Amino acid sequence: MPLHVHETNAAADQLQIRPQFAQRGETNEVPKLRLAPSGMPESTAYEIVHDELLLDGNARLNLATFVTTWMERDAERLMAECSAKNMIDKDEYPQTAELERRCVNILAGLWNAPDEGGATGCSTTGSSEACMLGGLALKWRWRQRRQAAGKSVDRPNLVMGANVQVCWEKFCRYWDVEGRLVPVGPESTCLTAQGAAAHCDENTIGVVAVMGSTYDGVYEPVADIASALDDLAAASGVDVPIHVDGASGGFIAPFLDPKVAWDFRLDRVHSINASGHKYGLVYPGVGWVIWRDRAALPDELVFDVNYLGGNMPTCALNCSRPGAQVVAQYYNFLRLGADGYRQVQQASRDTAQWLAHEIAGLGPYELVSAGDGIPAFAFRIGDAPYSVYDVSDAVRVRGWLVPAYTMPPALDDVAVLRIVVRNGFSRDLGGMLIEDLQRVDERLRSAHPARTTDVGFHH
Ligand SMILES: *Cc1c(COP(=O)(O)O)cnc(C)c1O
Repeated sequence: MPLHVHETNAAADQLQIRPQFAQRGETNEVPKLRLAPSGMPESTAYEIVHDELLLDGNARLNLATFVTTWMERDAERLMAECSAKNMIDKDEYPQTAELERRCVNILAGLWNAPDEGGATGCSTTGSSEACMLGGLALKWRWRQRRQAAGKSVDRPNLVMGANVQVCWEKFCRYWDVEGRLVPVGPESTCLTAQGAAAHCDENTIGVVAVMGSTYDGVYEPVADIASALDDLAAASGVDVPIHVDGASGGFIAPFLDPKVAWDFRLDRVHSINASGHKYGLVYPGVGWVIWRDRAALPDELVFDVNYLGGNMPTCALNCSRPGAQVVAQYYNFLRLGADGYRQVQQASRDTAQWLAHEIAGLGPYELVSAGDGIPAFAFRIGDAPYSVYDVSDAVRVRGWLVPAYTMPPALDDVAVLRIVVRNGFSRDLGGMLIEDLQRVDERLRSAHPARTTDVGFHH
């Protein structure tokens, strides 16, 4: 989010109210950046805000985001019914709290947590908050181990690929942990087992493995990373736990790749986060963090909230937040079941793989990934007289939001476009995008008549 810098243009600071609303009590101008001295009729306020938002992009054509942009009508109805409920008021809204508890248990089961007769975890505003909590637990447990051994606790570090989402860099900055970003390279666009182990030492609080890299959608090799860390522990005594950032993949892999062991089936995996508002199929903002067992979450980070005569351990950075998203998550679990989630995610993967294949066939593009992890893929431009940034701009004219950016270090000389396929993005829409990409190619080539195809300025 940009920080909103104050503008000083006096004319632009006045909101001109359309005269056609012509309602009693309407004024012609209100200040944009100051609270107006008096209000206006409800319907006028509605029209002004509604009209202003017409310029926002169309969420369904937003191929940049992983976040849910379509839900069923009944889910929307439930969310509207719950929008006044505060998740933190477990006493006042015990049933909302109960639905959260069920979701936590459903996810712990989905991710193969050992059955202790009750799962450890909670809902959050999104994966960012969930990652903060997962990382904090790692830091506290590392500190306890070090203190018990009479060793220094001054210099904790966290090992992760340079491709991690920005929340991990925030975690390190906010909580005073050295972030060890392992560069990616031509042989792998994400963290490798060898790279992870080589960066660990006695001050490493954990390794973050990402299921579904945001750059290109690939799964990191969690099982290989775990076994490299097993070897490290056997050889040196440095025993490092893993947190899996499953922001997207946490809701994909259990349904589409049940044979891939990335979750609590691996002893080294101590905690997992996922975004309910990504492939959990809920509107923003809800996330989840689950620990493999109660022992993986230090007591100091748990605050017991009493409700319905039982204790609900909670652990969150936020206090008040809406209950609607948690309710909607439970609705989705109930409505879809395992089969339903599998079908929805398979449809997204099929569309992503098909689109990747079609795009590879267009000519100018080379795939960086093919939609085989989470239903997202990245592609670069091979031989064309224009750049990925030109393409991103050009498709925007038709309403498509397709981001262009460079890969993380040390692949940052590679610029890519990325497409995220979500529930509701059909092959029909995909076909329209392919046609638009063809038209863009023709248009950009005629706009660059002087360029020969071997000018590599886009690399
Ligand atoms: C989206 C994402 C995050 C941040 O999640 P929010 O739910 O947006 O807070 C963290 N890690 C990965 C891998 C992500 O894809």
